[in-house]
Amino acid sequence: MKKFISLLIMVCLNFSLAAFAETVVFNPDSKIYHSINCYHAVKCKKCIKIEKKEAQNRGGRPCKNAGDKLE
Ligand SMILES: [Zn+2]
Repeated sequence: MKKFISLLIMVCLNFSLAAFAETVVFNPDSKIYHSINCYHAVKCKKCIKIEKKEAQNRGGRPCKNAGDKLE
């Protein structure tokens, strides 16, 4: 039972770590980044998936789409 609980804790930690390293869909031309589920991101063919931090380092700006939950 103890093993099961520690496994459960590890799974939870992995989830929060994944949320911390946020991946966005970045358009190198417009330098706008979208959340992965954004309508524009799905349509964008030039876009690349990178970390949000990396997108900001490249001069990226968040998408203005209302459905996009980026800040
Ligand atoms: Zn977007």
